[in-house]
Amino acid sequence: MPLIVGGNRRKYHKWTILQLIVIKKIGNKYFMRTIIFLLTLITVVCKVTSGQVIDMHLHSYTDKNFWVGKAPNGFESSKNAKETLEQTIQKMNEHKIEYAVVCGSIESLEIYTKADKRFIAGYGDYEDTLISITKFEEYIKSGKIKVFGEIMAVYKGQTLADPVYQPYLAICEKYGIPVGYHSGGSFPNTQNLGWPKYRIALGDPFLIEDVLVKYPNLKLYLMHAGEHFYENTLRMMDGYSNLYVDLGVEMWINPMTKDFAVKFLKLAKVYGLLDRVMFGSDQMVWPEAITSSINFLEALDFLTKEEKEMIFYKNAKTFLGLKDK
Ligand SMILES: [Zn+2]
Repeated sequence: MPLIVGGNRRKYHKWTILQLIVIKKIGNKYFMRTIIFLLTLITVVCKVTSGQVIDMHLHSYTDKNFWVGKAPNGFESSKNAKETLEQTIQKMNEHKIEYAVVCGSIESLEIYTKADKRFIAGYGDYEDTLISITKFEEYIKSGKIKVFGEIMAVYKGQTLADPVYQPYLAICEKYGIPVGYHSGGSFPNTQNLGWPKYRIALGDPFLIEDVLVKYPNLKLYLMHAGEHFYENTLRMMDGYSNLYVDLGVEMWINPMTKDFAVKFLKLAKVYGLLDRVMFGSDQMVWPEAITSSINFLEALDFLTKEEKEMIFYKNAKTFLGLKDK
């Protein structure tokens, strides 16, 4: 079933013509306003709930690691871990999200995958140390870990090329486990948020080139598409055909990341690289980010209906090796 993006635009025009006919025929301005409001509402609802979506970038929490706060764009966070889970599922229902890679601790992944089978478990190294390599392989074999990510190396003063990640990457390559790596920037004053070793420069995709050389069959995606390093991301995607990206966080958090996303997508289109760009919301504790991200991508006029279908769904389906339902 195709994503009805262009189709909705055509529908929108039809609605607009209908609205004009109504304006002409009906003199009562209040009644007219109500009709216009209802028609616009139907248009918007159709626009954000149609089509297939795979979200490559969600986060999971437990009461132990949940946090609250206002997002840079003003979104209020959920009140607790349970509410984030419920609101995230609600958003997935609203937007017909078929699958979603959710990143978190093993404990949080157990809660999420039990609550909804659309969640694909992504183990992220949010703690100081990774789980043992033995456990990692055991969890991959048992299906407890299906994706390795979000890998937080840059927050620890490292990159994916650091020796600590190498045995884990070798296992991911062996079992065909996708790897999601944090690239680009982060929140203002990240050092004060508990990550003293974080540095913006570490988010440059060029710094992980050795990983792509060492593991030619690794299914790797750059989360946030390199953000401000988007030109380096594009160069790397051209150089390494197994490198994918997601647009997580870029499409909603602030005007700067939105600008990077637009510039990246426009160039990716010109360079013929859109078939490796995937949708991701990176909702964190703000599930409303899922709707914002979908609306942002749908509103980009320089992308065709087919290109949006690729980004929202098809590229992720290929990358994750998902079969037709
Ligand atoms: Zn993230």
